[in-house]
Amino acid sequence: MADKIVVGGVSVDTRHWIGGERVASDETFTDASPIDGSVIGEISRGGPAEARAAVAAARDAFPSWAATPRAERARILHAIADGVEKRIEELAIVETTDNGALLRSHRRGVMPRVAHNFRFFADWLLKLGHEDFETRGHNNHVSWDPAGPCVLITPWNAPLMLATWKVAPALAAGNTVVLKPAEWSPLTASLLADIAAEAGLPAGVLNVVQGYGSEIGDALTSHPDVRRISFTGSVPTARRIAASAAANLTPLSLELGGKSPLLVFADADLDLAVELAVEQYDNAGQVCLAATRILVEESIATEFTRRFEEKAAALTQGDPRDEATDIGPNIHPRQLQKIDGFVRRAIEGGARAVIGGHPGDGQYYAPTLLTEVAQDSEIVQEEVFGPVLTLQTFADEDEAVRLANDTRFGLAATVATGDPERAERVTAQLVAGTVWVNCFFVRDLQAPFGGSRHSGVGREGGTWSFDFYCDLKNTVTAPGGWKSHG
Ligand code: NAD
Repeated sequence: MADKIVVGGVSVDTRHWIGGERVASDETFTDASPIDGSVIGEISRGGPAEARAAVAAARDAFPSWAATPRAERARILHAIADGVEKRIEELAIVETTDNGALLRSHRRGVMPRVAHNFRFFADWLLKLGHEDFETRGHNNHVSWDPAGPCVLITPWNAPLMLATWKVAPALAAGNTVVLKPAEWSPLTASLLADIAAEAGLPAGVLNVVQGYGSEIGDALTSHPDVRRISFTGSVPTARRIAASAAANLTPLSLELGGKSPLLVFADADLDLAVELAVEQYDNAGQVCLAATRILVEESIATEFTRRFEEKAAALTQGDPRDEATDIGPNIHPRQLQKIDGFVRRAIEGGARAVIGGHPGDGQYYAPTLLTEVAQDSEIVQEEVFGPVLTLQTFADEDEAVRLANDTRFGLAATVATGDPERAERVTAQLVAGTVWVNCFFVRDLQAPFGGSRHSGVGREGGTWSFDFYCDLKNTVTAPGGWKSHG
């Protein structure tokens, strides 16, 4: 196995990063590009031994990093952000080659946001605090103490973005980290290790282990020295992680799947509503927050569908490195099969494909809109994670809310309406961690983020991130009492 491979002109280390050193495994796994299925390289395939080594490195590095003054921790996080900003082009091309998402989005949106993740949590750390308060003359002081080694496990659909959304607050909080990126997109996590080391992050504070979740995951999540587990991924994996973490009662943050609705009322700006609907094909539909269930008021359904078809027809599907491309490939042949299975079963069950309904060439799936779908059908209830939307109609507000809430998920919801009072009534009734009104995907890092029901457990973002990654302590000091008895 080569220790380093060159991806889009960028050198990427294929080994783990443990205790400030590159460590190779005897076994490897093959990383392929979704763009054309070509092999990118062989990556170290970690197992329990690598998991234990990484947790030990994180445990050893913890006391010193936890004792590092906040201002110094913040300075190093800003230095990491500087490193990310210097390497935006490199990170963008490596990520696009590895996971197939659009190069233009990585360049202009995602990688700058990765840098912002570090800056935001560095700055938030410096203002983190709670006013002291008094109880019968006693002073209460709340502190956010570092918790210890954190295991962070991330998916492939937005690899570095989702990893740093966890790494940045965990490090800011004074914790040490073992990051396990997804095996279908392992590369930018390795580049992050280089950037963090160059920025002066001490050895062992950030560790990166590679491998299949089924082989290395349990050793990480059941380790007694791990104090927090933050996971973004699917519901079945979350169940396994929760069971594994139960042995040590390790606190968990789970950001899971969704089947979010877009409610379009007859009083909405129809062009805006159609734009919001077509936007759901972004990242080839591999977005947890995607509003994949379009619910349209009956009276405008025909006109909505006509304009949707027109707008979707203008989308360009192809090589994600091309500036003109709107929809790239899906991550893996297995994912493509999964998507196609959902669509075939839906059509066999009576659904009608308004557009798409079949795979394209290679790892591309035709953007699909299905109508005539039953509320209790698989296609309406289960997350597809591909460019597949359903369209249902509703007669009134009550029915819209009922349909919107009628899945086991509760990650997000989007409402298109021209009536502010309706917006208030409807949003109050929706079960979702994030609700957007006449907009989509506006995300501020200070907002709580997470899902209800099977879409997740807990919230991260702003102070909520520090609440999760820290051990909160209240110190109560009696008035007087400072005289010694000696
Ligand atoms: P996945 O659950 O298959 O894998 C996620 C990660 O878990 C990978 O790194 C994988 O290696 C690891 N893993 C697998 N088995 C494990 C085990 N037994 N122990 C520990 N780790 C294990 O999910 P995926 O297919 O990579 O990602 C897609 C899912 O992620 C979708 O359901 C999507 O909605 C969800 N997602 C949610 C959010 C959110 O913020 N709510 C964001 C992005 C993606």
